[in-house]
Amino acid sequence: MSFDLRIPFHRAAADSVMPLGIHAGLWVADWSPASARSAIEGSAAAGYQLIEIPVPDAADSLSPQETVRLLEDTGLDAVVSLALDAGSDINTVDPELSARGEARLRRAVEFAEAIGANYVGGVTYSAMTKYAQPATEASRENSLAVLARVAEVARQSDVRIGLEYVNRYESNLLNTAAQTAAFIDRLAARGADNVLLHIDTYHANSEELSLPAAVEDAGARLGYLHLSESHRGRIGTGTLDWAGLVNALAGSGYRGPLTVESFSPAVVSPATRDQIGAWRTLWSDPAEVAADSARFLGAQLAASTLLAPTT
Ligand code: MN
Repeated sequence: MSFDLRIPFHRAAADSVMPLGIHAGLWVADWSPASARSAIEGSAAAGYQLIEIPVPDAADSLSPQETVRLLEDTGLDAVVSLALDAGSDINTVDPELSARGEARLRRAVEFAEAIGANYVGGVTYSAMTKYAQPATEASRENSLAVLARVAEVARQSDVRIGLEYVNRYESNLLNTAAQTAAFIDRLAARGADNVLLHIDTYHANSEELSLPAAVEDAGARLGYLHLSESHRGRIGTGTLDWAGLVNALAGSGYRGPLTVESFSPAVVSPATRDQIGAWRTLWSDPAEVAADSARFLGAQLAASTLLAPTT
C-alpha cells in the first residue's frame, strides 16, 4: 500500500489549494501559555491557515491539550518542526550522540500526535551546525537507519517526516533538492515511504541553480516549503524570484503548505539568534511582518495564471 504523501489538514488549511502557514518563531521565543496564545491568535488574525510549532522543551510550556484548544478556537491547523544539534546528531557513528538525536525525533512525533499534527519537519537528518568535514558513508547510513525507524513509528500516527535541506554552513549531509530526493529514495527502499522533501527558499537560493530547478528536482516528493527571503527578513524585499517560484510550484502540481519563515533578534531567544546567525534586526513588529507577508503571498498566488480558477 503506498502512502499518501500529501499532509492532511483538519481545519482552515484543508480548504486551501496552497495553505499559508507561518512559523511560530516569527512571533515568540518559547511556548509558554502566553506565547502560544499570542502566536496562534496572531497567525489567525494575520490571515494564515496553519502554524508551525517547534517542539516545546521547557517545563512551563503550554500542554498539548491546551494547544489543541487554542487551535480549535482559532480554526488553525498545525505542523511540528525541530532541528537536531551538535549534541543530538544522527549523522554520526557515535552511538550516544545518535541515541539522543533519535530520542528527540521520537519525542517530536509524539508531540505531533498529541496536538493532531500530521507533519514533523526540519533538520531531522543531521545536526544544524557547521561541520568541519564532509559527511561519511557511515554517518549517512546511520542517519538513514535512524530515520527509517522513526518514520515507521510516525506512520502509525499518520505522521509524515520532512527533510529540510539547508545550506553548506548548516549541514554537510543534505544541501540540495537532488541530494535530498536521492536520500528519500533510499529511505523508501527500506519501506519508509512517509518521508517528504522540504524546500526552504533561503537555503535553496544559496545552493541551487534556481528555485524552479529545485522544485523540479524535488518532484512528487515535495511536501512542504519554508518561504524565507534571501536575507531572511521580510519576504518580497530581497532578491528571491517569488513569481517564478509560485509558477513552478503551480505547474508542478504542488498543493501543499507555503510557510513563512523569518526570524528577528527582537523576537527569538539569544540561543536561536546565535544558532542561525540572526545578528541584524531586520524587523521588530511580528504582527506587521506577518500581515504584510500574507498579503504579498496572496497577491503572488492570485497572479499565477496556473492557479487561476477555471469557472
Ligand atoms: Mn527553514
